Amino acid sequence: MSDAATAPVSVFAPWEDAQAKPLIQFQNVTKRWGDFTAIDDLSIDIYAQEFFALLGPSGCGKTTMMRMLAGFETPTEGAILIDGQNIAAIPPNKRAVNMMFQSYALFPHLSVAENIAFGLKRDKQPKDQIAARVEEMLTLVQLNKFANRKPHQISGGQRQRVALARSLAKAPKLLLLDEPLGALDKKLRQDTQFELMDIQEKTGTTFVIVTHDQEEAMTVASRIAVMDHGKIIQVDTPSKIYEEPKSIYVADFIGDVNLIRGNVSKTGGGHASIAWAEGQPELTGISQQDLPLGGAATLAVRPEKMSIYTSRPKDQANVIKGKVLDIAYLGNMSTYVIETTTGETIKAQIANTRRIHRRQITWEDKVWLGFTDTAGVVLDK
Ligand code: ATP
Repeated sequence: MSDAATAPVSVFAPWEDAQAKPLIQFQNVTKRWGDFTAIDDLSIDIYAQEFFALLGPSGCGKTTMMRMLAGFETPTEGAILIDGQNIAAIPPNKRAVNMMFQSYALFPHLSVAENIAFGLKRDKQPKDQIAARVEEMLTLVQLNKFANRKPHQISGGQRQRVALARSLAKAPKLLLLDEPLGALDKKLRQDTQFELMDIQEKTGTTFVIVTHDQEEAMTVASRIAVMDHGKIIQVDTPSKIYEEPKSIYVADFIGDVNLIRGNVSKTGGGHASIAWAEGQPELTGISQQDLPLGGAATLAVRPEKMSIYTSRPKDQANVIKGKVLDIAYLGNMSTYVIETTTGETIKAQIANTRRIHRRQITWEDKVWLGFTDTAGVVLDK
């Protein structure tokens, strides 16, 4: 690896530091209702100041993990530690944890400022201290002008920010966000993601977020845990999850991917090759796993890692021969669906960088796809 590629020391990555103490620890946690197992022997460490995302299909156990952290559920087996202390005996209102629900649950009869002040008043904090904290929170979420409005007099995005300010007013160590942006439309959702990251950074609070939206998790998170059936399948930074998935499940769950099935023909040096179709050259990708020669394996390659050519490219480690089955123009890019000589379909996504694009390649054209030997990963089965 070149010097330029090695991470500078200032990069926030406590999970790589053996000395760093986690803020949250799930230690072999299982949660059962009757004979149904919602969380299955799950262990994970989450560090202070992380923006940690739980991602997975409906019913995989994301909300159950959050509810156990908040104290609304208790593990059937195992322990949850915050700052090294088992939280089993600590009631929800005594935990340095706050949970922000999707519905926000703002009090309709209270003003924005009163909503933010609510928890502080309940704690009987001195009046001037509450006023100062509310002002600070209003500034943080840029709602000073709306302090006296009622929730129905502000927009959905602004309501979301009030809920966030209210959740952060008591300076919790940990804020749990369950689909916090679920009620917002796509554009507002994207803007709010950046605000959320900004606020998280400014306050230094640890955020754990549950989301269905992969792009959202990729945008905001320091690390993502991909879950399935009460288990964590992979925990990594967004770029690792996307570029180096460790299983077909993760490769397929996040973003668009071509899964090319074959048999291992070569391994070694961090790479593996597969023979996959009659008349097609073998394909090579990154491989961190110990794959047996001849065994079934899958090359996972993202469509945007592929280039398309009218003749066989000489400078690409991998080539696939086929013809154009379909072209979808998406504005910023076009997706080409290629049918290979053996009938598989493979997607390539090409950026439309020029405004006037004379389409050289069209339906039924015989083409070659080309990509490097680090563009894809070879995975077990
Ligand atoms: P979604 O994305 O749909 O919100 P999730 O990943 O958050 O899903 P959970 O709400 O954690 O999923 O639920 C996990 C599993 O546990 C589901 O199959 C659910 O039906 C089950 N479950 C949750 N709460 C209970 C309960 N109180 N009693 C019995 N089963 C429950």
